[in-house]
Amino acid sequence: MSLNLTFYGAARTVTGSKFVLRAPRASVLTEYGLFQGHRKKAFEINSLIPQQALEADAMVLSHAHIDHSGNIPRLVAAGFNKPIYATPATIDLVKVMLIDSAEIQVRDAEYVNKKHAKKGIPPVESLYTVEEAQASLESLKPANYYDRHEIAPGIHATLYDAGHILGSAQVLYEVDGKRILFTGDLGQPQLPIVRDPDRVPDPDVIICESTYGDRVHPPVEEAKEKLRKILQQAYDRGAKILVPAFSVGRTQALVFVMHQLMNEGLLPQMPIWVDSPMSLEATQVFRKHPECFDEETREYLKRDEDPFGFYRLRYVKTVAESKALNDIKAPSMIIASSGMCEGGRVVHHLKHTVGDEKNVVLITGFQAPGTLGRRIVEGLDVVRLYGEEYPLNAEVEILNEYSAHADRNDLLDLFKGYDPGKVKQVFLVHGDVDQSRALAEAVSDMGYKNIQIPEVEQTFELR
Ligand SMILES: [Zn+2]
Repeated sequence: MSLNLTFYGAARTVTGSKFVLRAPRASVLTEYGLFQGHRKKAFEINSLIPQQALEADAMVLSHAHIDHSGNIPRLVAAGFNKPIYATPATIDLVKVMLIDSAEIQVRDAEYVNKKHAKKGIPPVESLYTVEEAQASLESLKPANYYDRHEIAPGIHATLYDAGHILGSAQVLYEVDGKRILFTGDLGQPQLPIVRDPDRVPDPDVIICESTYGDRVHPPVEEAKEKLRKILQQAYDRGAKILVPAFSVGRTQALVFVMHQLMNEGLLPQMPIWVDSPMSLEATQVFRKHPECFDEETREYLKRDEDPFGFYRLRYVKTVAESKALNDIKAPSMIIASSGMCEGGRVVHHLKHTVGDEKNVVLITGFQAPGTLGRRIVEGLDVVRLYGEEYPLNAEVEILNEYSAHADRNDLLDLFKGYDPGKVKQVFLVHGDVDQSRALAEAVSDMGYKNIQIPEVEQTFELR
């Protein structure tokens, strides 16, 4: 049998990453992410487990994000009992995220079943339970950056830093003298806290993400000053600042930079409320893994015991505490989940924030089409919350600089670092097709040959 690669997800889309590499003596699975989309379709896709994935001899997980890790409980519940290798920081984050994901799945099924019961439709099951998520965590095995392991007969794997979120890795497989690089999700250089992505030496085959294959981010270096200005102006007019929070990555970056600004005397002190239980847990994982930090953060750690500014943050646990925030005095900041304003505690905070033109809604991340977050970014006059309309008078500020993803220029830099004559095949994944195509064109112009944008379930022989 030859060496081949099958794309089971994140093919011509950005979610549901899963890839199987089959060699003559063994096979490995890379990622087992949740497909995210309309509930019914997502459930169908996530319920189907490819036989090749179940039969793999080992799995490697590049990083903790749910679109890469989120369906592991279902895989393990279906009988996959091989080790799942990931960095220690990824393992700690995944523990928090999979339990949270299971709780969401269960709540979601309950919600649907309430509706179904009224209509006499049979109940649905959740994709997996909290117990199944808990059980799947046993399969996670730590692999440190740069340690080369034979993870299955004849297949070696080495993890390199991807600079995307804490613990994120690029995965290099070596099989029969071939070097196959999965970039996973790549970060952009200069992001706070995490290191810049490593350059993995001499791949023969590159499977590269292409989320922003056709988009360029504003420079990170200017983000700190931009954030300072937004916050200073908001402070001066006594605003409430509401930040819809992404639990892993962006929230920690934002808090880290605010804490720096306050320590440097560049920003007045103001209360910061974190109304997102998972953000708290994720931030604690960050604190536990200084081995993943970049030079700047390590230096900072030497001078400051508490680089995430824990003492400045006030955490909100119960719903009653969350509601009590409606009456807090401005200026103050509330960081609340969820990031795209679709459900979660941020919704009731929006209700109490958007009407006053003094206030600020600070958007820090990608807002998918169809979400309330996207409509806020697009500058609606009126937002619908709990079925009622509220005027959007508050200022909407957008800070995309802390995006955890490489942009087009960063991706092109990766390809500039290799000799197009030596790389035999390139696969572009994890991108909407227009993004992947634009990147493919540019990579082709550099002289790379055999560039593919795989479709779901497509298999390629690696030559
Ligand atoms: Zn990611």
